[in-house]
Amino acid sequence: MKIAICSPEVFPFAKTGGLADVAGALPLVLEELGEEVAVMMPAYKCIRQAGADIRKLNKDISFSVIGGKTKIYFLENEKLFSREGIYGDKHGDYPDNLERFSFYCRGALKLLKEIGFAAEIIHLHDWQACLIPVYLKDKYSSDDFYRRTKTLLTIHNLGYQGIFPKEEFAGLGLDKKTFGINGLEYYGKINLLKGGLLYADLINTVSPAYSREIQTEELGFGLQGILKNQSNRIFGILNGVDYKIWDPRTDRHITRNYSALDPGPKAENKAELQKICGFKADPGVPLFAIVSRLAEQKGFDILSEAIDAICAMRLQLVILGEGEAKYRQLLQKAAKKHAQNISVHFKFDEPLAHQIYAGADIFVMPSRYEPCGLGQLIAYKYGAIPLVFKTGGLADTVTDKSGFVFERYHKDDLIREFARGVEAFRDKKSWAALVRQAMQFDYSWVESGKKYLELYRKAVEVR
Ligand code: ADP
Repeated sequence: MKIAICSPEVFPFAKTGGLADVAGALPLVLEELGEEVAVMMPAYKCIRQAGADIRKLNKDISFSVIGGKTKIYFLENEKLFSREGIYGDKHGDYPDNLERFSFYCRGALKLLKEIGFAAEIIHLHDWQACLIPVYLKDKYSSDDFYRRTKTLLTIHNLGYQGIFPKEEFAGLGLDKKTFGINGLEYYGKINLLKGGLLYADLINTVSPAYSREIQTEELGFGLQGILKNQSNRIFGILNGVDYKIWDPRTDRHITRNYSALDPGPKAENKAELQKICGFKADPGVPLFAIVSRLAEQKGFDILSEAIDAICAMRLQLVILGEGEAKYRQLLQKAAKKHAQNISVHFKFDEPLAHQIYAGADIFVMPSRYEPCGLGQLIAYKYGAIPLVFKTGGLADTVTDKSGFVFERYHKDDLIREFARGVEAFRDKKSWAALVRQAMQFDYSWVESGKKYLELYRKAVEVR
């Protein structure tokens, strides 16, 4: 099958979160399954920092080869993409994001024709790619080249919808009829994700639980009505982990490699992490860790409320994350007050993230909602036991037998799970068994890749 993957982030070229990991790993697994894949993303400035060999196809397109022969194409536009950030800078989102991503969507469709890649399926990721099915149906419905092309939209996070003032609609070059109740219009504004939901042939989210939750008022972000109406077109496929990147046996970013059969050297990674954090290098103290965006979605509201009670326990907590200033300030203050217990690192640091997974005993994800979550799956592989709120992909992958789970989103319940973690860590024998079990879980991409293929086949049959 000919599959085009359109994502605004692809690891290792550009990454702000799990979407990049998915868009980086899925093409490779599809290639291994024998499919023909082309990936398309904007040529941000940062793509050239990935160290890959990037060549020119023509003045508007560059490309690189990932996997065996799969090509990733970069749509060049000096004015729109050659900037430090991906979606914004310290002042917030770039004000011309609609122009940037509509350019990307039109460009991706044109590119398919230019390279003669008659995709049977275009796999769209998040709002940034959502104009593709709209252009496809509005502009290209009578173009023979796209006659057989169907679309699948994957929602990685319903909280980000791509909303813009209606005055910008004229710049999209679309027919007026696409801006209405059955199109891009949403309370008088342009909502790209809504357009994607209505124009794509099939829809999925990144875990079965989240695919149900987005149809409820609580987690539907205002789109629950539309989603409920489409519920027979919505599926849930759990993300996998790319074990070529995330494997403590081969990871080059960590102090010592280790495996489920020989987990002993994990202790050296913990000692090193304790050193990095300025903590006492005590193997007997449980080391909790967070690697996350500093956002309310990720549970930083209840964590902030709970932080003093948590620091009163005999534990250490390292936090790596970029994000909202208010959480930075709060955590910075807590780290000053409890320097023995908390160490904070406000940056995006891939190598440090690896060292944290390898050194941590317990990996904390108290997300208010979590479409899939990769952190808990990576943590398993590195023998760090997840502590999570029961929601979305976390509910699908962590149970009381494999980690620590709380069911009421409240600081008291979070504190209770920290205490349970500290307690469980004391029993060395049962802890070692828990770690061994975690390291043996298999969340590799192959199964998820096969499920996507099934869904592509379903999409191709849509009339
Ligand atoms: P989301 O996509 O919502 O941010 P996920 O759990 O799906 O959350 O994926 C987060 C990914 O980003 C993981 O691979 C995690 O290790 C990584 N990550 C998040 N914040 C940082 C950071 N500050 N530095 C390095 N890696 C990070």
